[in-house]
Amino acid sequence: MKFFKKSEEDEEEGPDAKLEELRQLISAADMPPEVRLIADKEIESLARTGTATAEYTIGITYIDYLISMPWSKKTEDNLDLVSAEKILNENHYGLHKIKERILEHLAVKVLVTGRKPRILVIDDEEIARKNLTHVLSKEDYTVIAASNGEEALKCLESEFDVVITDLKMPGMDGMDVLEKIKAKCPDTRVIMVTGYATVQSAVEAMHKGAFNYVSKPFKLDEVRLTVKQAVEKKPQAKNVKSSVLCFTGPPGTGKTSLGMAIAKALGRKFVRLSLGGIKDEAEIRGHRRTYAGAKPGRIIEEIRRAGSANPVIMLDELDKIGRDFKGDPSSALLEVLDTEQNRSFADHYLDVPFDLSNVMFILTANLIDNIQAPLRDRMEVINFSGYSLEEKAVIASRFLVPRQIQDKGLYEQPPVFTDNAIYKIIREYTREAGIRNLERRIAAICRKIAKEFVQDKDKSGPLVITPDLVEHYLGSRKYRSEVIEGKDRIGVTTGLVWTETGGDIIFVEAARMKGKNELIITGSLGDVMRESAQAALSYVRSNASSLGIPEDFFKDQDIHIHVPSGAIQKDGPSAGITIAMSLVSLLKNSPARRDVAMTGEITLTGRVLPVGGVKEKVLAAKRAGVETIILPEKNRAEVEELTDDIRKDIIIRLIDNADEAVALVLKE
Ligand code: ADP
Repeated sequence: MKFFKKSEEDEEEGPDAKLEELRQLISAADMPPEVRLIADKEIESLARTGTATAEYTIGITYIDYLISMPWSKKTEDNLDLVSAEKILNENHYGLHKIKERILEHLAVKVLVTGRKPRILVIDDEEIARKNLTHVLSKEDYTVIAASNGEEALKCLESEFDVVITDLKMPGMDGMDVLEKIKAKCPDTRVIMVTGYATVQSAVEAMHKGAFNYVSKPFKLDEVRLTVKQAVEKKPQAKNVKSSVLCFTGPPGTGKTSLGMAIAKALGRKFVRLSLGGIKDEAEIRGHRRTYAGAKPGRIIEEIRRAGSANPVIMLDELDKIGRDFKGDPSSALLEVLDTEQNRSFADHYLDVPFDLSNVMFILTANLIDNIQAPLRDRMEVINFSGYSLEEKAVIASRFLVPRQIQDKGLYEQPPVFTDNAIYKIIREYTREAGIRNLERRIAAICRKIAKEFVQDKDKSGPLVITPDLVEHYLGSRKYRSEVIEGKDRIGVTTGLVWTETGGDIIFVEAARMKGKNELIITGSLGDVMRESAQAALSYVRSNASSLGIPEDFFKDQDIHIHVPSGAIQKDGPSAGITIAMSLVSLLKNSPARRDVAMTGEITLTGRVLPVGGVKEKVLAAKRAGVETIILPEKNRAEVEELTDDIRKDIIIRLIDNADEAVALVLKE
């Protein structure tokens, strides 16, 4: 019994102390007035709730959460473009165009978002004017004051976000000012100041387009809140709206690490959050706070953890949001990303708006095509492409090797990687557009060297890593050139595809057998690719005589087209020319050159249409050891953009018509 009695006493003292502590923390949390109001109300209602109830625990957790949010804690942006450029260059080789675009974006962003909202105060009463100017200046607005309508109109030569005007003034009154402003700059929000006697006119003013009114004598919280709402509701300029950066490109090409460098350059916190596989809108927007396990969404949670209201948040894998997403992912994300909506982002758990407009969002995606249009419209897409062999070698020796030597504690006697060793690692132990596996292989070698040093203390002198030692550490080669090492065959051609991991080569096989005029297509091909197989067959049938193929080749025959690596889904129209050449090779009974790779959409008349991903495809062809690449003439511009590095050691042929490919592909 005593035990229970004691606990009741505790209950009587404990909760009050706890609530008092929370009250003090709330005061110190620097919350916006509307949040403060909710927090205070919540405390009052908890004071009337029994401590043993679930509501009490839920309420306390909620208030703790509100207190821990960085409502007005921001890091100071210190954007100096020269040092930003230095930071971007510090850890990243090349990528000149990308760095340039990032710097431009940062400059605009900081100029636009760093601008304080401009407020014009119009009042003929000096005290009121001074009072308003003083209060609003403290809220981080630029405030200009005018003592009558005429003076105000002169000020309006430059742009204001909000005008707060007295209704009753000698000469031009508030109503006239409102009309003038609505005609001249309709986006500017107007707040009327009214005395008790003029409330009716203020309501009338709202009918005429005023945003709201505040009454004299001023309640400061009310003035602050109304002005804040007006600033938030003012439409933003178009260019600011579309200014979320989106990095696309294959893995391992530096998207994440450049994102981190941006945060460093701005002096902001960096947060990374993967959208891949998110299935429930609640993961973005949070759960309602009605049950004990409710949680805020991940955006709010990450901001809390970062402890700053303006971090750089990188939302990874935008294109991999779960297909079975409950709710509409693009509307949830628009609410997060759109500068007009995200000023008052509504997380279900938080239940009070949180201003996300200070956050800099960077999105990443491997393939931009998978992103819904409304989202794509808001993004400034920056394309990262794969690296050439030479670029990879420079990155390896300047960045990856030194970093791994540090990481694995080899700095006292750093091993020296010869160029040939690095080339060998790239060519024989990796096959990728980016450099993730390259870094892993170098890490593996450094780990093994570290182990040897520890095991054999007498070992001394710097170790020179030669190609032979690479093989010693990494075992026999992992990748062989399927192109060089395979034999030329009848009906088998080499194609180039573009996937989310960069470019790749595929082989298209064609065979024929007795049958009933059927075209059989296998190899996990999507609808578009199946249709291009049909089109390729029709092109060959309708041009049989000029191609030197018997016109009745399809009679009593089946033709089977197969693209191996069945586990990989393949789609898109760009294999048209490859399929056509595989049919021509089959029907002319002439082997196709394996070291000639091609890509291009084909029409029924044999015209070759342009394709995407030229750079990735050319890089993939080079990795695979291809000698000649056939590309559509209409891709000439992309080909001309390729650097000398990439064009070196490879022949590129541009064609308009499929007939031109025959001589390049077939062996006589
Ligand atoms: P992604 O996000 O595109 O998958 P990451 O940013 O994770 O790629 O990059 C993988 C690794 O490669 C990181 O260690 C990164 O520092 C390094 N890296 C990528 N590009 C470059 C570059 N141009 N110069 C130096 N290092 C790079």
